[in-house]
Amino acid sequence: MSKYLSLGKFSFGMGDRFAHQGKAQLRACLMATDQGAEVVPVWNKSNREHTFIGTEPSSLRAEADAAVQALGWKKPYHVDADHIRLETVDRFIAPSDFFTIDVADTIGKPAAAAAVKAFVDRHPELAGKLSVPHLNHPLDISRAEVERVANKFLLAVQDAGKIYRHIVKAKGEANFITEVSMDETDSPQLPHELLIILAALADEQIPLQTIAPKFTGRFNKGVDYVGDLKQFEKEFNEDLAVVAFAVQKYGLPPSLKLSVHSGSDKFSLYEPMRKALKKFNAGVHIKTAGTTWLEELIGLAEAGGDGLEIAKEIYAYAIQHVDEFCAPYATVIDIDKQKLPTGAAVNGWSSQQFVSALRHDQKNPAFNPSFRQLLHVSFKVAAKMGDRYYAALKKHESVIAKNVTENLFERHMKPLLLQ
Ligand SMILES: [Zn+2]
Repeated sequence: MSKYLSLGKFSFGMGDRFAHQGKAQLRACLMATDQGAEVVPVWNKSNREHTFIGTEPSSLRAEADAAVQALGWKKPYHVDADHIRLETVDRFIAPSDFFTIDVADTIGKPAAAAAVKAFVDRHPELAGKLSVPHLNHPLDISRAEVERVANKFLLAVQDAGKIYRHIVKAKGEANFITEVSMDETDSPQLPHELLIILAALADEQIPLQTIAPKFTGRFNKGVDYVGDLKQFEKEFNEDLAVVAFAVQKYGLPPSLKLSVHSGSDKFSLYEPMRKALKKFNAGVHIKTAGTTWLEELIGLAEAGGDGLEIAKEIYAYAIQHVDEFCAPYATVIDIDKQKLPTGAAVNGWSSQQFVSALRHDQKNPAFNPSFRQLLHVSFKVAAKMGDRYYAALKKHESVIAKNVTENLFERHMKPLLLQ
C-alpha cells in the first residue's frame, strides 16, 4: 500500500450548505473532545450541493480554515470532496484533502470476464468456509457467489482505482484521505459482499480510510432510521468484524473504518452502534449535512421577527412545489402529504409552533417528520433568496449557532460516542 494520510478514530462529516456554521459545528467537536471523545471535524460538500447553491469547492476550505483559526483548533481537520467522480473531481483537488469516491453508478455493470476470473482465482480464500473473528458462524461463500459479487462490484472497484490514481497524480499520495462510497445504490451490501469488495479495493492498492456501504433499512434525510433495528445491529456488527478482518488479511490501513452516510438524526441506531464500536474498539465516520441547514431554519424561526418570516416564506414556497422538490430525493424521504400543514396555517404560527414542528425531538407531540423532510429538501429556496438569507444568518448568528452546536453535540455525538 502506498503512503497515505490517515483519519482519526472518530470523525464527523459536517455539511454546511450556506457556509456560515463552521464555527458552530467545530464547537460541537471541541465539546466532544473536552468530554473524552476526540472527534475529527471534516467539512463535506458534494458537487451536487455546490451546483445547487452556486459555490466553489475552495469556499469550503476557506470556511474550514476560518473556523479552525477562530476557535484555535489545534488537532487535525479535513475538507471532503463528497461524492466526486472522474468527471467532477478536478476543481476539488487543490482545496480538498479528503475524497469520497462515488462508484454507485458502476455497481451492477459487469467487469471484463477475464478480470472477474482473475479476481476469483487470486482469492481462493474467499470461497468455502472462512473463519472471521467475532462472527458467530464462519462465512461460507461458494465460488459461484464470489463470482457473482465480483461481477456486480469489480467494475466499480476498478473505477475507484482510476479516480484514486487520478487524484494521486495531481496531489501526491500522502496528502489526502480516501473514502469509497457505495451508499447511493438500490440494494444494501451484505457483510460477505463487503469483504469481497474490500479484497478488491486492496488489490487496487487504494489506501482506504473509510468505506460507505449502503446499510439495510431506510436512511431518510433528517429523520430517524426506518427498518429492522435488530437486523441493522446484526449487520453493523458483522460489517465491523469484516472490516477488521480485511485490514489484517489484505493489508488495508489499520485506521480503515465504516462511514455512515445520511448519518444524522438516526437516533435509534446510535445506541446499538455505540455498543458495537466499543466491542470492536472500532472507529466510525458519521456523515451529516442537511441537519445543519434545518438548525439554521430553527434558529431563524426561534429568533422571531424577520427570521420567522423567512422560515415561513421558505415553507410557503416549498409546499407549493412539493412534487418538484421531492422528486430527486424519492428514495431518501418518506413524506405523508396529509400531514403537511398548509402555507396559510404555517403563516399563522408562532416561533414556538414552527420550532416544535421542525426540531427533531421525538418526544414532542408537535414534531412533524413530514414537515421536517420537506424543508430538508427545500434549501434551494433559501439559495434563491440570496443576500437576504445571508443577511438573516448574520443578524441571527447567535441563536442559530446555539442550535447548530447543540444539535450536533447533544443529539449526535453524545449518544453515539459519550454515553
Ligand atoms: Zn452518501
